[in-house]
Amino acid sequence: MTTGPAQPLDLDAVRAQFPGLRAETGERPLAYLDSASTAQKPRRVIEALHGVYAGTCANVHRGVHRASERATAAFEAARERVRGFIGASAREEVIFTSGTTAALNLVAAAYGDAHVRAGDEVVVSEMEHHSNLVPWQLLCARRGARLVRWAVEEDGRLELAGLERVLSPRTRVVAVTHASNSLGFTNDIAAISRLVRQRDAALVVDGAQAVAHAVVDVQALDCDFYAFSGHKLYGPTGVGVLYGKRERLAATPPWQGGGEMILDVEFSRATYNALPYKLEAGTPNIAGAVGLAAAIDWVEETGIDAIAAHERALLIHARERLEALPGVRLVGPARPAERGRAAPILSLVVDGVHPHDVGTVLDHEGVAVRTGHHCTQPLLRALGLDATVRASLAAYNTREELERLAAGLTRARELFT
Ligand code: PLP
Repeated sequence: MTTGPAQPLDLDAVRAQFPGLRAETGERPLAYLDSASTAQKPRRVIEALHGVYAGTCANVHRGVHRASERATAAFEAARERVRGFIGASAREEVIFTSGTTAALNLVAAAYGDAHVRAGDEVVVSEMEHHSNLVPWQLLCARRGARLVRWAVEEDGRLELAGLERVLSPRTRVVAVTHASNSLGFTNDIAAISRLVRQRDAALVVDGAQAVAHAVVDVQALDCDFYAFSGHKLYGPTGVGVLYGKRERLAATPPWQGGGEMILDVEFSRATYNALPYKLEAGTPNIAGAVGLAAAIDWVEETGIDAIAAHERALLIHARERLEALPGVRLVGPARPAERGRAAPILSLVVDGVHPHDVGTVLDHEGVAVRTGHHCTQPLLRALGLDATVRASLAAYNTREELERLAAGLTRARELFT
């Protein structure tokens, strides 16, 4: 991800705010290199969650009593916080969901069912996390539409020319990730949008791996939908966001029915609430939304540019260090252009050692990484792989932790080859 100049992070001060980094995991201190799975939470997020349950614990939008009014104010303030963070033009464009997966399923089921017809085409990149692929498979099966692959190149990157080749007058949706969770490639969403705009199609972007690492401005990206999870942004699990352009959301019928999404219900029919509530049936994750707002406060006060610059420096150092290790092969961005804007993810294989064995050895050394297909089986298969070891970085990681990763990889190779 590209960023401007930034003040260096005070790493000790940053780390001191994350109690989870001091978790007991055996003899060695924890080196947490799995933030792409879920990030650790700063104390202010934990305190915000506690504050909801210990302070203003009431439902939102329902009561006339003051506790409910306070809860509603906090919940709607969180929505406004998210709106500002992603540069949406109106609060109606911010829908709270339980996470990226729920947000993408909402788009595929509600917008997709209403706008994709038999014979239409849904273009999905081969780089996608399963949660931005399987909902489209389900939609195409329901509607008799065609799922069209935007194939990756030999190294796993996406090229705009590949998209141009598969766009057609029948394209109704293009679904693509902002940043790859398994390899770190970052896609130029604004450029993709310019191509999609030439068709009568909606651009759906999975931002799960992007929002924590660079400024995201949904208006500059000019996407129709943008999904992300709170928990990868130093926030709580169980809360996420679907941004949608107002006109697209207005053209999205309700997905789930229940409280809050209605204005009036008769026995045989109902009229629906305005946005954003129309797409938020049932009691929302109130504490989650407030916790997510606290996470955004933390990111903005720490400085997203400073976080990005720190992660970039670590990533460059780690690539050099790991590429020098015999038998270790990095998978993912190799060319300078892709490396320059990649998310802070190191995906690798160790010759002759299964990634799960590497992960187990690393765990014994106190180094937490993810191993497997990272919910991107089509992508890894396109590269002839079924699994990798993935180390993913965040604001609190250190060079010393990367040294421990390098030592653990060397140890795994010694043990297994
Ligand atoms: N998309 C990407 C790129 C991801 O990395 C993830 C999670 O790893 C998801 C979607 C799904 O996110 P969640 O499980 O929070 O819904």
